Amino acid sequence: MTLQFEQAQRIKNLPPYLFARIEKLVAEKKAAGVDIISLGIGDPDMPTPEHIIEELQKQAAVPVNHQYPSSVGMLSFRQAVADWYRKRSGVELDPATEVVSLIGSKEGIAHISWCYLNPGDTVLVPDPGYPVYSGGAILAGAEPYYMPLTAENKFLPDLNAIPAEVARKAKMMFINYPNNPTGAVAGEEFYLAVIDFAKEYNILVCHDAAYCDMAFDGYKPPSFLQFPGAKDVGIEFLSVSKTYNMTGWRIGWAAGHPGVVDALGRLKSNIDSGQFQAIQYAAMKGLTGPQDSVERMQKVYRERRDILVDALNSMGWQLEKPKATFYVWAPVPAGYTSASFAEMVLDKCGVIITPGNGYGENGEGFFRIALTVEKDRMMEALDRMKKNIGTVKF
Ligand SMILES: *Cc1c(COP(=O)(O)O)cnc(C)c1O
Repeated sequence: MTLQFEQAQRIKNLPPYLFARIEKLVAEKKAAGVDIISLGIGDPDMPTPEHIIEELQKQAAVPVNHQYPSSVGMLSFRQAVADWYRKRSGVELDPATEVVSLIGSKEGIAHISWCYLNPGDTVLVPDPGYPVYSGGAILAGAEPYYMPLTAENKFLPDLNAIPAEVARKAKMMFINYPNNPTGAVAGEEFYLAVIDFAKEYNILVCHDAAYCDMAFDGYKPPSFLQFPGAKDVGIEFLSVSKTYNMTGWRIGWAAGHPGVVDALGRLKSNIDSGQFQAIQYAAMKGLTGPQDSVERMQKVYRERRDILVDALNSMGWQLEKPKATFYVWAPVPAGYTSASFAEMVLDKCGVIITPGNGYGENGEGFFRIALTVEKDRMMEALDRMKKNIGTVKF
């Protein structure tokens, strides 16, 4: 007899998986032999640069790397991160106390809530947003307060719209620029306002900079840590995943406020044993080695972005070209919800787009396209959309 186990409340509290229905439809289409083009998944489609792979191969053969690593990362890895910050953003970090390695930044983003949130605590979370912010907080028993990211406010949270009693209760805030899913970027004025807000209400700021080096047209996204006072109020999460096509390698870091870095490290020492040292060496190679691959990738995504946005605009959209990330965030035409539009596009065109409501209530009415598909396939998808959908109205 198979026993039935009652799941813990924290698992039951997790929100329903919103992409289940579209995934079922995709499976049906595939079974029926339809050639599906996915513009859904934000995962680089090109390989990791050669010199990084070679470093992994070399380091994988070194016996000391076969042993348990440190859960906070090799000091040399943390030093490489600190050097990278100094060079890129003029930020000074003490590698021993202000940087902790992560098994991908997702790991740290999920775990930070365990360090600072008690059951019932309030955490400020962008909506739409990367689902791990609320997921990690809910697992810790905390309650997300969703900050709407609206087109009117350029997809930045309106800090003045957060009720004072919510701000006073809030312990932590997640922000993410360049932003997934909206492709929005943030500048100095916003970051300074966030730092002021955090100081006024004693809120720990967690900035997710996953796309900081995926920017176009000469734009260079700032690091949160480069603004005065940032290190007093928070940390930045980052990884080599998006910049160097290394999503499968699982290596990232958190940097900034030493007390917060210490807490994450203590939590991790009770949960994991860090990342394979050979992978840490490979990531160091990425950070310290030649950067021409980054420019090459930026060019590839920029070209795809231009093709995609021009095609959608020729169908009736009025989109601006995002300055960063490999996402295009667009409103659904009149008469559709996010889900019904995504289903229609799948049904009529065999093209997968991501319904915006999967990123939160305020994503309703939008869809996300990822530029992580070869140009020819993307153009084929756009041709199908032009042919089978035609001109759209809003
Ligand atoms: C991809 C992504 C991450 C993290 O990726 P890791 O591979 O875990 O470092 C974090 N935040 C956002 C918004 C992302 O899109």
